[in-house]
Amino acid sequence: HAATSPAPGDLLAARVRTFPLVQEHYYDAPPRIERGWRHHLLDTDGRGYLDMVNNVAILGHGEPRIAAAVDRQLRRLNTNSRFHYAAVVEFAEALAARAPEGLDQVLLVNSGSEAVDLAIRMARAATGRTDILALTEAYHGWTVGADAISTSLGDNPAALATRPAWVRLLDAPNTYRGRHRGPDAPLYLRDALDRLAHWDAEGVELAGVVSEPIFGNGGGVLLPDGYLAGLWDAVRERGGVCVSDEVQVSYGRLGAHFWGFEQQGAVPDIIAVAKAMGNGHPLGAVITSREIAEAFAVEGSFFSSAGGSPVSCVVGSTVLRVLDEDRLQDNARVVGALLGDGLRELCDRFGALGAVHGMGLYLGVEVVRGGPDAPDPRAAREICAALLEEGVIVQPTGDHKNVLKIKPPLTIDAPAVERFLRALEGVLARREARAELGGEEV
Ligand code: PMP
Repeated sequence: HAATSPAPGDLLAARVRTFPLVQEHYYDAPPRIERGWRHHLLDTDGRGYLDMVNNVAILGHGEPRIAAAVDRQLRRLNTNSRFHYAAVVEFAEALAARAPEGLDQVLLVNSGSEAVDLAIRMARAATGRTDILALTEAYHGWTVGADAISTSLGDNPAALATRPAWVRLLDAPNTYRGRHRGPDAPLYLRDALDRLAHWDAEGVELAGVVSEPIFGNGGGVLLPDGYLAGLWDAVRERGGVCVSDEVQVSYGRLGAHFWGFEQQGAVPDIIAVAKAMGNGHPLGAVITSREIAEAFAVEGSFFSSAGGSPVSCVVGSTVLRVLDEDRLQDNARVVGALLGDGLRELCDRFGALGAVHGMGLYLGVEVVRGGPDAPDPRAAREICAALLEEGVIVQPTGDHKNVLKIKPPLTIDAPAVERFLRALEGVLARREARAELGGEEV
């Protein structure tokens, strides 16, 4: 690239000139990353980085089977799903085969936001109602509907004050930092049912509920046991539809489960999925029952120009095939356990770490000053910056931006986990040593 590319600073300045800062970038002085291979990234100075943050590229970067499938299909045909070709049938069948019994209708779009918006429209069509129940601390996307039900303060500090009237919110059942902690976790369901009863008395009728099965941007916090099943039962009793936003958890990342809602022992009426289903290629889907799909059809036809295109479909089918061929869900379980254990061990040793959330390769590490009520976003930022120097990419997430989001490609192996843990250990040890010398607080 050297002869034609601008110097790193010039390229960053050019980026900000035409690509507004609202589309922020990682790090103040980001490395220029132009190549990736499995869970590794390479900058233009030849430095390698471990990618601990990319929950989209589940198969890893530069996956040759995806590249070959795209290359072959682009040369043969790319068109829209109003034409009749095999790729869309094969992909829809493959997706339906992964979904629970009775969810066998597939609508293909291009992103998570689109999938969530479509799910909201379908819940409304199925019920003839408007109001949607959602949980705080969640992010569901940028389109009008998905944005309306997104209240993660890390993304939009004014979110709670600016929701439209049709959005009904329940407090996030955050058992680490919320109102009910540890053994009090079951009280969240009781509170939710009380709230529903209160809305009943006001005559509120819900079209449905949309939530993640395990908090994504909220930092990987698991919902309390039985929460989703209890909430969904109560919403269904009231005639509403239950939507699981599987966009961030995607396929197999929990290790023990393919879908996120399985961890909760609950079955949704609508699944919204995206991100990892294309390994970075824009792909999203809604999977639902025939009854809901038919209710939606009454509104007219549904069409997305690139959703369900031959190229998108071969990407989607190849992702599912490679996931199986390479046994990546098993890898998420085995390597995720190593990673989780190693992080919990660091959490016991270093005061800056408060808890490890999540399971498999869907993890979040709280950076705090002593406990849950003192989130420490500055320390989280500094730890991420120091890790970059060690060749490891991690970013903060959560309402307070103090949770280290740890969601690497599912290709990650034991040596890479060890490299990451030792890098984090070194960063934390140096912070403590500096604090002991009176340099700064930890
Ligand atoms: N839902 C969840 C849970 C997400 O994490 C995201 C993306 N962060 C979205 C929806 C929106 O997906 P997209 O960025 O593909 O529109």
